[in-house]
Amino acid sequence: MRIVVTGSKGFIGSHLVARLRRDGAEVVGVDRRAADGGGDRRLDLSDPRHRDGVADVVGGADAVFHLAARPGVRDPAADAHQLRIRHNVVATRNLLEATPAEVPVVVTSSSSVYGSSIRVDGVLRASREDDPLAPAGGYARSKVAVEALCEERRRSGGRVAVVRPFTVVGERQRPDMALAQWISAALEGRPLTLLGAADRVRDVTDVDDVVEGLIRVLVTGYEGVVNLGTGVGRTLSELVRAVTEVTGTPGPVVLRPGSSEEATATLADVTRCSSVLGFVPSTDVEGVVARMLAVHPGVSEAAS
Ligand code: NAD
Repeated sequence: MRIVVTGSKGFIGSHLVARLRRDGAEVVGVDRRAADGGGDRRLDLSDPRHRDGVADVVGGADAVFHLAARPGVRDPAADAHQLRIRHNVVATRNLLEATPAEVPVVVTSSSSVYGSSIRVDGVLRASREDDPLAPAGGYARSKVAVEALCEERRRSGGRVAVVRPFTVVGERQRPDMALAQWISAALEGRPLTLLGAADRVRDVTDVDDVVEGLIRVLVTGYEGVVNLGTGVGRTLSELVRAVTEVTGTPGPVVLRPGSSEEATATLADVTRCSSVLGFVPSTDVEGVVARMLAVHPGVSEAAS
């Protein structure tokens, strides 16, 4: 089976490629960042000059996982809006157009399309796939646009599934994400910066389970929208505590204002994941922090 993975050099993509290759699949990684060699291709999906290269790669595929994107709710780039349009919306449109209708495409959207999970009688209500979408910022809106393109493909007879991962954690997590930042800060003796409020809630999902979920979407032939989260909310203070305990550093922790584009709480409803994929992710936060720490450049260099 020949599988194309876009965003193959990224955090989740690199885990997915490694797992698929371990399972014996023939994988072609596509990324705008330089390829490592092998059969991988350096292609920018948003670049019209790469159109033929993209068509060539996906034309011969049995399945495509589309993870390439400009992720991140907080994006300090002055042209963040244009970059999100380019690498999220235009790149997805080009990829979907180039992929034959009969080839299944599994596309990563994001939990951010829901906005914040709300409290009902003090209890956090988990976000369900059929909830109305309430994107709070530019990144989330770009993912809503990505989902609309997928819906268009589905309506015109093309095969496609949309996966909404909730805050993904694990080795090689993007350096702009909270756990990765806190681990680096703890190791370097800097304060751990917590954005918004200590009681903000995140449903954090182990990257290994996200990879498992993506593969199950393909294997089951599911062609709808599905959350990939645990259904368990963790407060930011719980997550910070896991970092300070595992790294053995006591803090200090500083609180900074969050932006209005960040959800105050995220929580996945896992009913559909359980019924269509036959499993529900579960995250051992301390275990994941220990795994991240073990491959952190500062720690792994010192150990070698
Ligand atoms: P990442 O930034 O680590 O990886 C994305 C990769 O896509 C990068 O290697 C980048 O070079 C590549 N890329 C970007 N634009 C491209 C283009 N035009 N053509 C080819 N390659 C391009 O991100 P990640 O955290 O691994 O996220 C993967 C996907 O999962 C994204 O779609 C993201 O929006 C989604 N997602 C991630 C999380 C999370 O917590 N990490 C949560 C929800 C959804």
